Amino acid sequence: MLPFKLIYDGRYDLNLGAHVFPSQKYRLIHDQLLSDGIAKPEDFLAPETATDADILAVHSQEYFYKLKTGNLTYAEKLRMEVPYSKELIVACWLAAGGSILAGRRALEDGWAANIGGGFHHAYPDHGEGFCVIHDVAVAIRRLQFDTAIERAMVVDTDVHQGNGTAAIFGGDGTVFTLSIHQENNYPYPKPPSTVDINLPDGIGDEDYLAILEKHLHQAFDHFAPQILFYVGGADPYREDQLGGLALTMEGLARRDALVFDYARRHSVPVAITLAGGYARRVGDTVQIHVNTILGARAAAAQQNKENRKEKSEKGRSETSR
Ligand SMILES: [Zn+2]
Repeated sequence: MLPFKLIYDGRYDLNLGAHVFPSQKYRLIHDQLLSDGIAKPEDFLAPETATDADILAVHSQEYFYKLKTGNLTYAEKLRMEVPYSKELIVACWLAAGGSILAGRRALEDGWAANIGGGFHHAYPDHGEGFCVIHDVAVAIRRLQFDTAIERAMVVDTDVHQGNGTAAIFGGDGTVFTLSIHQENNYPYPKPPSTVDINLPDGIGDEDYLAILEKHLHQAFDHFAPQILFYVGGADPYREDQLGGLALTMEGLARRDALVFDYARRHSVPVAITLAGGYARRVGDTVQIHVNTILGARAAAAQQNKENRKEKSEKGRSETSR
């Protein structure tokens, strides 16, 4: 059993068939977490669908109605790069609800993961790059609206820059956005995040991890978030079809551990979302995402150990007084 909750719904799978976006990965990750004995059925929570008000806190009314009615132009559908359907809209509203729930559970338990979401290319007024609704932004706005948090940090390690995140939170001092991505890759243009780390093509584990660590250090020096949303892309992987970096599976696991380590040492709750992954073998993408959950489990265990130690030391100093 896991020390935190996983958020999942079978309807995350869009059944897109041979599409480059492997939407079946959500189901495969869910199944592998169970079959590997990492999670038990009771570790999973089903999300409620985000309310229309939640969606409208981030997206324009015009875009919202276009999505609801399917009244998108051909160009708008092309830009989205996933076929429009009623099921797509259900899945996007659910994924946003899933990220809201992941945020809430992270605030309660320290950690939580949406086995979906991370749709960081969605803009307020349009969708693009397989992203329709910006679930992480919807979740942050909802948590802020509920006064559960004031300040959030988004750490985005997908190989593609988080342009939607940057556009939504640009100029908003309550949300610190960090994106580490390949410079010579979609999207163009890249609106500025709080911190953009533009990596050259073909960078490997050691260089990547050193650069990420330096920037995480600076980010936590400058900003004290009450929650961290992790957009953990599997596509910096060297076997990725849409990425041009050269991280190994082990390097990606160390990347996750590094982000979680910073959050843990600053006592910041972490809500995980998955984002992209287009490895030649879909099993690799699934394994990378499963490894992210394992990384969170290890960090949560470390945190519990430290808390117990702190408690027993406090107890001892109190009895010695
Ligand atoms: Zn990506």
